[in-house]
Amino acid sequence: MTGRILDGAAVAARLRAAVAQEVAQLASQGVVPRLEVVLVGDDPASRVYVGAKGKAAQEVGIRAATHALPAATTATQLRHLLEELNGDKDVDGILLQLPLPAPLDSRTFLDLIDPSKDVDGFHPFNVGLLHQGRPSFVPCTPAGIMALLDAEGVTLAGRRAVVLGRSEIVGKPMAALLLARHATVTVCHSRTADLAAVCREADVLVAAVGKPALVGADFVKPGAVVVDVGVNRVDDPALVARLFPGDQDRQGQLAKRGYTLVGDVDFTAVRKVAQAITPVPGGVGPLTIAGLLRNTVRAAQRRRGLG
Ligand code: NAP
Repeated sequence: MTGRILDGAAVAARLRAAVAQEVAQLASQGVVPRLEVVLVGDDPASRVYVGAKGKAAQEVGIRAATHALPAATTATQLRHLLEELNGDKDVDGILLQLPLPAPLDSRTFLDLIDPSKDVDGFHPFNVGLLHQGRPSFVPCTPAGIMALLDAEGVTLAGRRAVVLGRSEIVGKPMAALLLARHATVTVCHSRTADLAAVCREADVLVAAVGKPALVGADFVKPGAVVVDVGVNRVDDPALVARLFPGDQDRQGQLAKRGYTLVGDVDFTAVRKVAQAITPVPGGVGPLTIAGLLRNTVRAAQRRRGLG
């Protein structure tokens, strides 16, 4: 079997086009949604993500601004900025880019964001609504994955879903969304015994661990749908050669950039077993950004009683 590639980029493009239409509709009512991104420190990956989010927002007509703060920013300074953005009636969405540099504690600051502007869906108010089955702002990565599964016609009701990873950002909200759609859901983590055997029960397997190619063919039931959330920079030429045998593009990236992006799934091996699989890059990543844009438009509509 050669698994079909689930084209996250194509589904994301359709989601972005739908968002652009909604933004145009709002503009005709005199409203331009505004997203404020807060970036603390100089983590290179965070800078790339923030740049991509800002660019994608501008492309659909959302006003986006980035507050780039130094790594030495104090808790008081960050709290003041978030309070200022909460109080600014022109701001629709606030995104605090994670991770925050030590000693800033991300939970403390996520809790400060006004839930009606919480476009990442990480505030406990929005988390609670999601787990009660009445979602408001849903975290962008799992929301994007659900859009992909729906677009690809993947049946969830009555099927076994395994979520590998229990983070607040991906694993837990993913499990809640799959449960709400009547899948029978198992969540795995670093203490799960016999991980491969549990994962092999899945009709739909979502991997969000942050360990390059952890999920091998022995983790996957023949015919399963596999969603790879992981984004890992791999700079070991021997590992890249083993994971992508004969792939000149990967070798070229490694030579040029010093790394290549690898998911949590051994794509080459798992594709031989799975019915369908997302690639890295080009799978889940674009969907995450599309989910953020959709949440920002929702925030703009709801705050003005238009949605
Ligand atoms: P995280 O907060 O580090 O959580 C990782 C989870 O994986 C934890 O629950 C951890 O278990 C579990 N885990 C770690 N090692 C394991 C192992 N060997 N066996 C079983 N479980 C293991 O990570 P995250 O924020 O969810 O992100 C996961 C990956 O997705 C990362 O590569 C991240 O870059 C990527 N990501 C991508 C997108 C996107 O848009 N494509 C968005 C978000 C994240 P414990 O809870 O027991 O520690």
